[in-house]
Amino acid sequence: MNTGLSRRGLFGASAAAAAILAGAPVAAASSTSQMSLRWWGNNGWEIRVGGKTILIDPWLTRFKTGTYTPAGADPHTPLSVNRALIDGYLDRGFLRADHILVTHGHYDHLTDVPYLAQRTGATVFGTETHLSLMAALGAPEDQLAIASGGEDLTFDGYSIRILRSLHSATGERARVPFPGSRPLSRRDRPRVIEDLVEGGTLAYAVSGGGASVVNFGGSNYIESELAGLRPDVACVPVGGAKVTQYVPRLLRALGNPRFVAATHWDDFDLPLGQAHDPNGGLEVLRKAVAATSSEFVVLDHLGSFTP
Ligand SMILES: [Zn+2]
Repeated sequence: MNTGLSRRGLFGASAAAAAILAGAPVAAASSTSQMSLRWWGNNGWEIRVGGKTILIDPWLTRFKTGTYTPAGADPHTPLSVNRALIDGYLDRGFLRADHILVTHGHYDHLTDVPYLAQRTGATVFGTETHLSLMAALGAPEDQLAIASGGEDLTFDGYSIRILRSLHSATGERARVPFPGSRPLSRRDRPRVIEDLVEGGTLAYAVSGGGASVVNFGGSNYIESELAGLRPDVACVPVGGAKVTQYVPRLLRALGNPRFVAATHWDDFDLPLGQAHDPNGGLEVLRKAVAATSSEFVVLDHLGSFTP
């Protein structure tokens, strides 16, 4: 079945903001599980289960890089963290974290994580390169946990399975932007966005509260890593034009999840609260999902959803 339902607007940023101000819970799409998902823009996802919070790639700062302009991202864009913005959400208790899961090292995934780790005390998972970058940006080292993919870990009321994955490859040569790796022993501080190299890509499957979700931070995957995974929700980035049968092969490998939640589709030159599709990628993904049995879910910034 495919309803083509978009939850955008129904559970949009303004409704969420109003609910935050009123101290009221944000409405859920349906309430068959005890897990809820909230979208923080780009690939930033918050998973709440049994009073615990798992964040994936949280990036609230969204500084201007020109990524979606014809000229592309300026590699010398300085890294910055909007602490006032992050503090605002943390201090009100609206944002918290027990775990932070990093899919790869790029600026639109990793930049805010060191500060969020400092403020929340969360355990942070990533590869050696991701940990090297985050330690050099001030993340508390005793909170960093190295992962290589293949781990299946149980915590208080939820489990996290870490999957080896692949980054998006774009252009005629199917190249990975800002590629490379960095050893844990390196200590110089990253200054500009090109310093934040990909460093390998991981995907994460989180289960708990009667539901499960798998998240991909880049529009590619390793099909064999997904064998046997049967998530209720797959967070799928737009793109994947160079990946053979990007959407149908992925959804088949995952046993056709009930929901496909669009991710990494918004222009992050615009601040949180302004979710705008810069290049029609969302409609391409919507069409690909419409040809499958999964329901397509599009949230607005801070919109939430219960699978
Ligand atoms: Zn990336």
